[in-house]
Amino acid sequence: MSSQIRKYAVAVLTVALAWGVDILLEEKFSESSAGLYLAAALVSTWIGGLGPGLLAIGLTIGLNLVFAHHPDLSLAVGAYGYERIMLFTGIALVVTSLADRIRRNQQQLADLNAQLEDKVRQRTAALNESNRQLEAFCYTLAHDLRAPLRAIEGFANLLVSDHAPKMDGDTTAAVRRIRNSAERMGRLILDLLAYTDLSREDFQRTPVDLNVVTRRILRVFSDEIERAGAEISVELPAAHVMADPAGVERVLMNLVANALKFSSPDRRLNVRICSEKEPPNVRISVIDNGIGIDPRYRDRIFGVFERLSPQDNPTGTGIGLAIVKRSVEKMGGAVGIESTLGKGSRFWFSLAAAPQLARASAQSSANGAAEGHREVVKA
Ligand code: ADP
Repeated sequence: MSSQIRKYAVAVLTVALAWGVDILLEEKFSESSAGLYLAAALVSTWIGGLGPGLLAIGLTIGLNLVFAHHPDLSLAVGAYGYERIMLFTGIALVVTSLADRIRRNQQQLADLNAQLEDKVRQRTAALNESNRQLEAFCYTLAHDLRAPLRAIEGFANLLVSDHAPKMDGDTTAAVRRIRNSAERMGRLILDLLAYTDLSREDFQRTPVDLNVVTRRILRVFSDEIERAGAEISVELPAAHVMADPAGVERVLMNLVANALKFSSPDRRLNVRICSEKEPPNVRISVIDNGIGIDPRYRDRIFGVFERLSPQDNPTGTGIGLAIVKRSVEKMGGAVGIESTLGKGSRFWFSLAAAPQLARASAQSSANGAAEGHREVVKA
């Protein structure tokens, strides 16, 4: 049965139902109800549209006219006169046309919504594709720029080392500047490549033990720690997170490197690496008592090429924290900072706790507490 015939069949059935109930009412209470037929017309319109609604009204009028002289089988046209059927017809036509309009508006709204969703899906796909192309372009560009840059750096080095005696002071200084600028640009390109690489990389989500990662990082930075005379303490009561092992190491590495770099000349550097449970996550913080950050720059600091104190950090490129943010977000976490200018900073990131290691973590923190689980590395 086609859907159109089905809609008209609904009109016939609802009128038949209304008629049946009307006869029962008449039998039991000697009362006929026009509301039943009105409901039948309304239901038919809502399900099938104006056509089935009009059919329901037509059938109701037909039935009542055919049984006009049998008040027990009709709207009692015979008993009450034609006014009752005329009133019903007027009200039913108004109600049906209103219901049909509402129904069509709703249909239009649903169609518009579907079109809009389709458009958003298409635009998102196009945007993703253009982002992907842009990143691929950036990557190729940065890659290709490195070769001529290396040549500039190499020739500048050659001039400084082999031909310095033949050049006057100004020329040597200019060549040194060229070399330094080429070096800086090389660093920028390398960091930019590392940043764009992140979007191509697939980040794993496996259980990672932060104790192992932290130990490795402290080994890597042992010279810097000694040079800075820093005191480093590690407290990791919640040490297991779901993360990409290389990703989480890169994040902690950048944060610890910054804590060592931006120390205050007025006091001994103190860096704390700690974690706390924030179910279902673990929040890991790197806290220092360094130069701190002006609150005005707190939102900008995780952007690419953002450097607040280039004089303290001539080799910085301003990409480290952008890498931190993107890496953490790719692992499904969040990053943040709390800092007071001149007093120090707390950089934190949160990642999902590793569920299968929850028991192991509780065990190790209990052991840790028993052994006074606090590792302090002094320079
Ligand atoms: P880079 O260290 O290469 O400049 P980052 O993105 O790692 O780039 O850092 C951006 C800027 O944020 C730094 O130039 C510095 O001004 C500020 N910064 C980062 N970490 C700290 C910190 N622990 N204390 C004070 N300032 C910081």
